[in-house]
Amino acid sequence: MSKIGALEAGGTKMVLGIFTEAGEELDRLTLPTLTPAETLPPMRAFFDGHGIDALGIGSFGPLALNEQAHNYGSITSTPKLAWRDFPLLPALRGERSIPCAMDTDVNAAVLAEAELGVAKGLTDVVYITVGTGVGGGVLSGGRLVHGLLHPEVGHMLLRPHPDDPNPRGVCPYHDGCLEGLAAGPAIGARIGGDARDLPDDHPTFRIEAEYLAQMCVNLIMTLSPQCIILGGGVMQREALYPLVRARTQALLGGYVQSPAVLEHIDRMIVPPALFPVSGLVGSYLLGKQALDRTRAKG
Ligand code: ADP
Ligand code: ZN
Repeated sequence: MSKIGALEAGGTKMVLGIFTEAGEELDRLTLPTLTPAETLPPMRAFFDGHGIDALGIGSFGPLALNEQAHNYGSITSTPKLAWRDFPLLPALRGERSIPCAMDTDVNAAVLAEAELGVAKGLTDVVYITVGTGVGGGVLSGGRLVHGLLHPEVGHMLLRPHPDDPNPRGVCPYHDGCLEGLAAGPAIGARIGGDARDLPDDHPTFRIEAEYLAQMCVNLIMTLSPQCIILGGGVMQREALYPLVRARTQALLGGYVQSPAVLEHIDRMIVPPALFPVSGLVGSYLLGKQALDRTRAKG
């Protein structure tokens, strides 16, 4: 029986899993994300101990995902300096000649939700995580989107909310981008505290919902998704979903003539079904796909 190793690499923690080909989880290990020198050896030991036959990685980024490029499988310009330009996939593969695949954590998550979760069977799906940052994974026509690099949905530019005291946001790269305006730390900067401590009816959540709705509108207009999945720590605030849905409909202004938007938006803008393991399950699926591809080549 083949075993598939899965890694969801996050900025604060690494979650490793061992799966059967059929998707049964056999073991799991969670480690804090320290430096590569500290975190790599226990990760390698875990995968070595299980004797895996394939490896899938869903990682924080940005990532080098062009398989022809010399740095394929590296984390590139991350603000986490210890991991900048670190060749994560090659380092984990080591001497093993097993099928491996890597993608962004959010592309892994959208894959998992489209194969096994809330968007099961759909071909055009976006997964957004709103947490310490904002990231987006895109499945389009059944394929994970990479293109030039990979989508960086979190840095799309938005228009400021008139009541926002901090309309330039907190992204060090851009004025007024989604992550700088709507990630957890942006809410924290706006209120001078922790978003978790606020009541649902705090006015900052109207501003938050406005920005997430602008994002949904931009996604609907550019990608025409059948489903937008909103996950991550900030979306633990369930009161945000109805606010985001209502503002999305209002901002669309009746232009997109689909019942999915006009009547059933509560089924279109949804929480993930596999949270908090969408990324880990997606990493397993990436590993399984890599194994299947290698077998198909014979
Ligand atoms: P990460 O992105 O690092 O994986 P999370 O997805 O857990 O982390 O997101 C953490 C962020 O979510 C923090 O900024 C935190 O303030 C915010 N957050 C967590 N729970 C809530 C909540 N109930 N309401 C609003 N914000 C929340
Ligand atoms: Zn930005």
